[in-house]
Amino acid sequence: RPSPSPARSRPAADHGGSADSCRVRVAVRLRPKNSEDLAHGADLDCCVELQPESKRLKLKKNNWSCESYKFDEVFSENASQKRVYEVVAKPVVESVLEGYNGTVMAYGQTGTGKTYTVGRLGKDDPSERGIMVRALEHIFSSLSVKTDRVAISYLQLYLESVQDLLAPEKNNIPIVEDAKTGEVCLPGAAIVEVKDLEHVFQLLQIGEANRHAANTKMNTESSRSHAILIIHLQRSSRIKEENSSSLANDAHGIFPNDLPLVIKSKLLIVDLAGSERIDKSGSEGHMIEEAKFINLSLTSLGKCINALAENSPHVPTRDSKLTRILRDSFGGTSRTSLVVTIGPSARHYSETSSTVMFGQRAMKVVNTMKLKEE
Ligand code: ADP
Repeated sequence: RPSPSPARSRPAADHGGSADSCRVRVAVRLRPKNSEDLAHGADLDCCVELQPESKRLKLKKNNWSCESYKFDEVFSENASQKRVYEVVAKPVVESVLEGYNGTVMAYGQTGTGKTYTVGRLGKDDPSERGIMVRALEHIFSSLSVKTDRVAISYLQLYLESVQDLLAPEKNNIPIVEDAKTGEVCLPGAAIVEVKDLEHVFQLLQIGEANRHAANTKMNTESSRSHAILIIHLQRSSRIKEENSSSLANDAHGIFPNDLPLVIKSKLLIVDLAGSERIDKSGSEGHMIEEAKFINLSLTSLGKCINALAENSPHVPTRDSKLTRILRDSFGGTSRTSLVVTIGPSARHYSETSSTVMFGQRAMKVVNTMKLKEE
């Protein structure tokens, strides 16, 4: 694979001061009990205990067997959206503002709070806002120069087909490597410049409506597809002052009539399809097809993470579209944070346990952050 864009390594101290600051960060978030949990006696039947001071989670299989796992953070059912943003996403967004690529991703069983964590709009109640909206708020408030620009693409990956949620007529968007930078890109996907939060709400709502319409047409649910928001950022201010010799006219910018631009970066925010195993025996027709592809993409993501965690020389990133899109996010050049979401009920012990194990393995993946200068 070609080496990623002209890059300059930066000392790890710039990114939190610790030597392992390029490691994928993983937090676990416990959803509050819902009426279904309570109906099944979740108080008595709870398989999860959190120990926030030691950032540990205890998973009880039964009265005799209990395992304890350490994460970068554990969020109880009382954790606010603000706190989750600050711990999980804020450091990644700060890196993106400096010119690095970043990824924030939610993984877990359907109904455990992935969309709540990542995609909640909170238009009327800012305290409810999820990571997508908060990241854009954060970016808007950090831009100081008029030439700094932000744009978004919003996509859905379903049955190995990339669909544009902002331009639903665009289906089957290809995934390619940029010949110049070696980065993964999706030519043809709409890239819409955004200036303020109101515009962001409008686009995310259009995206959600298109997602709903597409899924109704295909007779599926959104928990079966992966939603991917890409925030594109172009900045010209900071490095210009520091190092004027690095200025170059950029003929390939994503915005028309670019002024000289110095840094371009990208943030991927991903709400993955539900990680639960789908019972193929009970499925018919397209449901079997669906189960196969969802299993394919999440299974191949798991395989890549295992290979990276074990330092294996071969990482099978080409096995699915999801892992091709996320190639730079795991073992690549991005700063990456993962939040794994779980429910409290012992009825879902096996799904909860496999989510926790996925998070544990992802913590072993180390990325190499690179600063891109044009
Ligand atoms: P998923 O995306 O994993 O399928 P959702 O985000 O749709 O799950 O969450 C399922 C339900 O639980 C939703 O009604 C959501 O509002 C609620 N929920 C999830 N997490 C929380 C939380 N931390 N606090 C309050 N409600 C939550």
